[in-house]
Amino acid sequence: MMHFDVITLFPEMFSAIQEEGVLARGIKKSLLSINTWQLRDFSDNKYRNIDDAPYGGGAGMVMQVKPIRDCIAKIKQTTPDATVIYLSPQGEKLNHQLAVELSRFESLILLCGRYEGVDERVIEHDVDREISLGDYVISGGELGAMVLIDAVSRQISGVLGNQDSLSDSFANGLLDYPHYTRPKVIDGQRVPEVLLSGHQAKIDAWRASQAQKNTHKKRPDLIQHNNY
Ligand code: SAM
Repeated sequence: MMHFDVITLFPEMFSAIQEEGVLARGIKKSLLSINTWQLRDFSDNKYRNIDDAPYGGGAGMVMQVKPIRDCIAKIKQTTPDATVIYLSPQGEKLNHQLAVELSRFESLILLCGRYEGVDERVIEHDVDREISLGDYVISGGELGAMVLIDAVSRQISGVLGNQDSLSDSFANGLLDYPHYTRPKVIDGQRVPEVLLSGHQAKIDAWRASQAQKNTHKKRPDLIQHNNY
């Protein structure tokens, strides 16, 4: 069982992954669990503020150290060895390898920033890793945390049920092969004959060669990188 604790100002956003689809089934099967923490519950004032103006001036607000530190301390009472990840555009980029690596952890704490982000002293003292979705800035860490939870959970044995993730893009360094379903012909477009042949070895060989072609065409950088 893998456990995610998420620190956020918008816990309700996480219903998107907790109530629908593959992850919801994984939760039901007790293969993973997600617990959200409202950071405002750790505010020390009646307005429930957790942010303040930046020293040195400038636009935007900064998330304060104490509520975040207190929230992490509270979570670590139950999971003392949890790794703390701050979703940040300045972090290492999330990719397949990183998702596989993180799926071996028992417990992750995901800190979602808002505004201008968190006070730097949180990153220095409380955060183990910074992870980014890519080289662009979005408005909050919640979407990043949801993407990370989804990508990591797909690597946990049993979460995909009888589907497998081995032919998914990136799993073996290549993109996926093309998929087709009924009808056999639509608007003159036919399903490749081999897929209708019932000959599994031929189908497997076709799929392998299509995965290669697909990768050459769409992501030649992967082929160079993996020496295919
Ligand atoms: N001032 C920050 C900077 O330029 O590095 C960006 C702050 S952003 C508006 C607010 C929050 O969104 C960040 O604290 C982070 O949690 C999240 N965020 C923004 N871009 C992200 C990305 N590419 N990957 C992961 N999280 C991101």
